[in-house]
Amino acid sequence: MKGFEYLQKELDEMKEQGVFRNLIPLESPQGSKVNINGKEVIQLSSNNYLGLTDHPKMKEAAIEAVEKYGAGTGSVRTIAGTFSMHEEFEEKLANFKHTEAALVLQSGFATNQAVLSAILTKEDVVISDELNHASIIDGIRLTKAGRRIYKHVDMQDLENALKETQDYRTRLIVTDGVFSMDGNIAPLPEIVELAEKYDALVMVDDAHASGVLGRNGRGSVDHFNLNGRVHIQVGTLSKAIGVLGGYVAGPKTLRDYLIHKGRPFLFSTSHPPAVTAASSAAIDVLLEEPELIEKLWDNTKFFKEELTKLGFDTGISKTPITPVIVGEEALCHRFSDKLFDYGVFAQGIAFPTVAKGKARVRTIVTAQHSKEELQQALNAFEKAGKELGIIK
Ligand code: PMP
Repeated sequence: MKGFEYLQKELDEMKEQGVFRNLIPLESPQGSKVNINGKEVIQLSSNNYLGLTDHPKMKEAAIEAVEKYGAGTGSVRTIAGTFSMHEEFEEKLANFKHTEAALVLQSGFATNQAVLSAILTKEDVVISDELNHASIIDGIRLTKAGRRIYKHVDMQDLENALKETQDYRTRLIVTDGVFSMDGNIAPLPEIVELAEKYDALVMVDDAHASGVLGRNGRGSVDHFNLNGRVHIQVGTLSKAIGVLGGYVAGPKTLRDYLIHKGRPFLFSTSHPPAVTAASSAAIDVLLEEPELIEKLWDNTKFFKEELTKLGFDTGISKTPITPVIVGEEALCHRFSDKLFDYGVFAQGIAFPTVAKGKARVRTIVTAQHSKEELQQALNAFEKAGKELGIIK
């Protein structure tokens, strides 16, 4: 259609550079193996850390909720779309996270946008790690607050930022709990100490830590025994929790304020009953089946160690996210394609998701993978890696 030639030109250039990617539809439920293009492959690209997308208790809860309450809610939360199950679930989440209150939003992305854009004005400043997630970056763009980006996990630079910004009313330090592209954990104890020293607030985005770190998957704050010392915890229901949505856990004042001022919360329809019921059942699963998290970590240790033994550069990861860093973007995509030929689905991630020249195949093992599946995947990595000269 006429009018889009300038966009098409850019897409054509991406094709020439070998970085244009098609979406890859799954033809089976999410799991340790999935069907793609009629072929069964080992799944190493999902965020389904605990395998909950397909957990029987969650499916049952979702079906029951649909039968009882229907497929949709017909309104935003603030008009006619709050069901009792939404509020019950929020109370359960707050208890789980040891916070006064929690509020669920449409997605983790929307949650970061809602929180940052609502609570910060031009009297305030946000101090943000340079590798924070896109939803934090976009949330910051929506505020009129001052902004200071500190070097990745660099506590000296964070302290400098705190010294430079003493004149602002509220100073909010924001960090991912686990960084999604490198799999490293934020140095939360140091961040909290600095925040206390300089009287700043701390917000943690635990998208990749919920269900993964802390007791029963309570997240990075619990992992570091910092309950009560981190002001705002954001999480997602879309990764380890296995469903869809985001939440913020913190003081009741924050929840009440977001209900009135959090724009994605105010202007977007509430979660369907099936989503809320399944997410709520997931919290029960976290409490009742801690062995899932043990298995996740057992698989993580094995897979990471074996990849390193093969000679791959797995960066600074300390979590189930293990990047296999390749560098050049086109090579990374060729590596991913070859892995697929050898029965492994591990997506290449390139600019703008990661910095130029830092392209990687990002792997995420789950609690569902068997050791045999992981060994098969390692064999594929070895073969493809050698053929492309990524390892010797
Ligand atoms: N924060 C981080 C750190 C993430 O990795 C993601 C998911 N890519 C999000 C927020 C967004 O979460 P959701 O998928 O629920 O929108």
